[in-house]
Amino acid sequence: MSVWAILVAAGRGERLGLDRPKAFANLGDEPLLAESLRRLDACPWVDAIVVVAPPGWEEPAILLAEEEGCGKVRACVAGGAERSDSVRAGLAEVADDAVVILVHDAARPLVTDEVVERVLAPLSEGWDGAVPGLAVGDTLKRVGNDGGVGETVARDGLWAVQTPQAFAADTFRRALLSDKLSQATDCAGHVEAAGGRVKVVDGDARLLKVTTETDLVTVASWL
Ligand code: C5P
Repeated sequence: MSVWAILVAAGRGERLGLDRPKAFANLGDEPLLAESLRRLDACPWVDAIVVVAPPGWEEPAILLAEEEGCGKVRACVAGGAERSDSVRAGLAEVADDAVVILVHDAARPLVTDEVVERVLAPLSEGWDGAVPGLAVGDTLKRVGNDGGVGETVARDGLWAVQTPQAFAADTFRRALLSDKLSQATDCAGHVEAAGGRVKVVDGDARLLKVTTETDLVTVASWL
């Protein structure tokens, strides 16, 4: 089975306050993008990779992939305004005979072979997709603009969902190309909106999404 990974790295990362996009922020001595790229390239379950770079940063992304010796990279394209636009740009480069599409945020550098294996497994049991998640442990409250608590939300059955997310390629293509209106904030949301069945498997606390400078320091300490 041919597994294509779309590595989305086109976010601006404004909260990091840098003069370059988040994917090129320093994680240790290297750009953030290098870590997930190298890990996916070395992952035995992944056959090919499409990198979605910030517009204008395609060339540095290609050079980085070459420097890292990432031989599975088949294309590097510019992303769009929203994450789902970036995923669609990457999807256009995925081969027609791909059986599975794995979408991963470059902002989550510490992707492992184990979590990739966990999201791929449900696809051979008939699920349309699978995502890693962590059961929510904290109490959840909806808070108003004045800072006051509107309500306490029951947390039973609530999971915080991460990437990599895996999908049957045909289902994923149909879902992403037909659903341009839903407010889905992850790829699974598009598949769900199209009626697909998505399974949640165990995620990994180390798949933290880098948003702030503190997150970068935390992830660097885990390397
Ligand atoms: O913005 P956020 O951190 O939620 O983005 C998650 C992932 O999606 C990041 O890896 C980011 O680079 C990517 N992204 C993208 N194109 C966008 C917005 C986000 O590729 N327009």
